[in-house]
Amino acid sequence: MERTFLMVKPDGVQRGLIGRIVSRFEDKGFKLVAGKLVQASEDQAKRHYAEHEGKPFFDELVSFITSGPVFAMVWEGDDVITLSRTVIGKTKVTEALPGTIRGDFAAHTPFNLIHGSDGPESAEREIANFFDLHELADYSKSISPWI
Ligand code: GDP
Ligand code: MG
Repeated sequence: MERTFLMVKPDGVQRGLIGRIVSRFEDKGFKLVAGKLVQASEDQAKRHYAEHEGKPFFDELVSFITSGPVFAMVWEGDDVITLSRTVIGKTKVTEALPGTIRGDFAAHTPFNLIHGSDGPESAEREIANFFDLHELADYSKSISPWI
């Protein structure tokens, strides 16, 4: 069982897409263990995107992600890191296929609606950057043997 950090970016919140984005992961069969609307601080945003520090779009990315509230979530499931990135779609909107969140809803690359962790270490780091352990729900779903 794996955990990942997913975050509806400010564009997704402003466009009223939180519900539809959450539904995609519920439909897939993942388990939501935490979720909250949060205004990320500049330091928090820089920590979140630390791997991109020094790149030409870094400052733009930090100011975008702090431009309004984000909907931060933790999801659980087998291979949830890889599978959720498949549901999300490619980074570049020109490559994001229909049926993915970005393919269906995003029209410009920086405004690609949602973040998903790209590996177990980044997932752990990103979860800790937005959540305290006590905010993660510990529960089981009776439908899980069927997923
Ligand atoms: P992701 O893991 O698919 O979100 O993509 P990356 O980790 O490579 O990039 C992080 C975020 O930076 C992306 O989701 C985009 O919002 C933004 N981004 C990536 N590449 C570019 C770029 O070339 N220009 C701009 N302005 N933003 C970019
Ligand atoms: Mg990334």
